[in-house]
Amino acid sequence: MKITSIAAYRVELPLHEGSYKWSGGNSVDVFDSTVVVVSTDAGISGYGEVCPLGPAYLAAYANGARTGLAELAPGLIGQDPTELGKLNRRMDQLMRGHPYVKSAIDMACWDILGKVASQPVVTLLGGRNGDDFPLYRAISQDTPERMASNVAGYRAQGYTKFQLKVGGQPDIDIQRIHAVAAEMQTGDVLVADANTGWRQHEAVRIAHAVRDVDVYIEQPCMSYEECLAVRRHTDRPFVLDEVIDDLAMVLRGVSDQAMDVINLKISKVGGLTKARQIRDLCVSLGIVMTIEDTWGGDIITSAIAHLAHSTPPELLFTATDFNSYVTVSNAEGAPQRQNGRLAASMAPGLGVTPRFEVLGSPVFEIR
Ligand code: MG
Repeated sequence: MKITSIAAYRVELPLHEGSYKWSGGNSVDVFDSTVVVVSTDAGISGYGEVCPLGPAYLAAYANGARTGLAELAPGLIGQDPTELGKLNRRMDQLMRGHPYVKSAIDMACWDILGKVASQPVVTLLGGRNGDDFPLYRAISQDTPERMASNVAGYRAQGYTKFQLKVGGQPDIDIQRIHAVAAEMQTGDVLVADANTGWRQHEAVRIAHAVRDVDVYIEQPCMSYEECLAVRRHTDRPFVLDEVIDDLAMVLRGVSDQAMDVINLKISKVGGLTKARQIRDLCVSLGIVMTIEDTWGGDIITSAIAHLAHSTPPELLFTATDFNSYVTVSNAEGAPQRQNGRLAASMAPGLGVTPRFEVLGSPVFEIR
């Protein structure tokens, strides 16, 4: 089987809440997502998606995804999409770095492999564990009172795991964590995610101020070294996210005992192939994972579901249903949250079909 064309579509995904705010005064009102269609000489097409969290979160941005895809695509025409190891080597030979650019193509080729095998991707990634898996809800940065009230609203929708967006002014962040912790019930999980927003001295101070709160601390500072220093000053369970961008960083973190949990984002590491490699290593080492992406719509939510549902439950901390945060559906067949939980599609491949009436004309199509 050969790839005969690669097309990219731009689709805007507005947020139900109007905007999403995190550390450093950053916010997004409308997500700029890119849907990729990989077509083959067998008449089978695969679908992928990449959606950076704006340009200021990771070294990734929406126009960069499309520019990079247009650069990469000509070198992939004629390649076999079902040979995912070879395909990833080819992408890494054609373009150094830029893992998020490669992610949507890798995702689309997993979709094709599943359709060829007549199996859902969850089966190809190791097999479905149980009926469904738990989700977390990100609580956009706001006043302590409004964040506490938002947690109560999302619990009413079935969520029991909450990730607070902190990384702002330290005194207010301490109030945010205490205000939301007061809303927690037995069995709930609370994570304070600073998204790199604290200086090391601030993070040490905040971790000390919440030492009696049942809360996880996630990615307090920008660099790995700062995070490691904070980790060594606190006994709260510790999550690393932004700095865990490849397998080598996982190994380094394990060696330093730098974290209890990692946040594994599909596009941050370059697609499902590399995310699975990291996932399987973490399973072997006993590192618990949140499995998600930087953002996205129905196609990314489906890909998250296949990877998360094939992860042993005791090693899956949480996952994310991004398609419930946005007002636009870019594909049919994506999993929908039920009572705070999600399940991977039973259909072959990713189980999604783009809504081309929503996507409009392609930004480019390379044959
Ligand atoms: Mg995070």
